[in-house]
Amino acid sequence: MGVQRAIQLGIVVPCYNEEPVLRDTTTRLLALLDRLIAAGKIAVASRIYYVDDGSRDGTWALIEELAQQHERVGGLRLSRNRGHQNALLAGLYTVPGDAIVSVDADLQDDVEAIERMVDACHDGADIVYGVRDDRSIDTAFKRWTAQAFYRLMALFGVEIVYNHADFRLMSRRAIDALRDYHEVNLFLRGIVPLIGFPTATVSYARRARRAGESKYPSRRMLSLAWEGITSFSITPLRIVTALGAVIFALTVLMSFYVLGVRLLTDAAVPGWASTVLPIYLLGGIQILSIGILGEYLGKIYREVKQRPRYVVQQTVNV
Ligand code: UDP
Ligand code: MG
Repeated sequence: MGVQRAIQLGIVVPCYNEEPVLRDTTTRLLALLDRLIAAGKIAVASRIYYVDDGSRDGTWALIEELAQQHERVGGLRLSRNRGHQNALLAGLYTVPGDAIVSVDADLQDDVEAIERMVDACHDGADIVYGVRDDRSIDTAFKRWTAQAFYRLMALFGVEIVYNHADFRLMSRRAIDALRDYHEVNLFLRGIVPLIGFPTATVSYARRARRAGESKYPSRRMLSLAWEGITSFSITPLRIVTALGAVIFALTVLMSFYVLGVRLLTDAAVPGWASTVLPIYLLGGIQILSIGILGEYLGKIYREVKQRPRYVVQQTVNV
């Protein structure tokens, strides 16, 4: 972006049942905004925007209350729960600002890193990735699964920033470029690197959740990982194709052998095993292949419908 003037910063915070943390989060983010404004790094019009992702608790009422108390707090409310990625997108596309930072409501990602993101933005970066360089606070299970996920993504040829979640800064023009990616199977971490533009990274230590509990149980984590792989890579399809080719080659060799035995010798009758075994084997492989094909077909099905990814029901201060 390369602007030297103070940038108007928007901080987008997706919230799903985050009533227990929001006050604390607001205090800390407002303090940060005040400091950056005083330092002349961001414009006075900079704001925090909460996106209520169809919470069932008093999150929206609290957002309205906070917006009334503080002029630098705004919010939008989605018509129902659409998931973290869609809530984030709703925020990115709706709120004003020269640059938008996205951060989780629980502030597990160090807000102090936002100042360094803004600095990097002043130095010309359009996208600044927050990277966790210390995850000692996470459970061994979460660390291990996260690492396995990043490895697998790399193996499958998906370009993704290691240990980067959705804590990042994007310039206005990067967000405008993002609008041209219309996919419904939304995995922002995979899409953002495809945009290009000058990028930078900022590292920080991940902290414990300040209050409330994780909205990403293992099931949701697994579903996000699966979305990431199948939305960006056709390697699973290729593996099945390769497997099919190998099996086919073996079958051809096997037929020659069987024919040879049958025609050139008067040895054994074809056995039960050589008949039944391939049936099982091929049956299994076919079912697996159909399953994977179905997965991609399902994606095409959802994409072609072009359904809206979110619906904004209400806004305050936006
Ligand atoms: N979140 C959301 N919609 C959902 C689930 C989560 O907007 O359906 C938000 C949540 O409020 C939080 C962020 O996504 O701000 C990350 O969730 P969480 O902190 O629970 O995930 P974890 O840090 O445990 O991976
Ligand atoms: Mg969290």
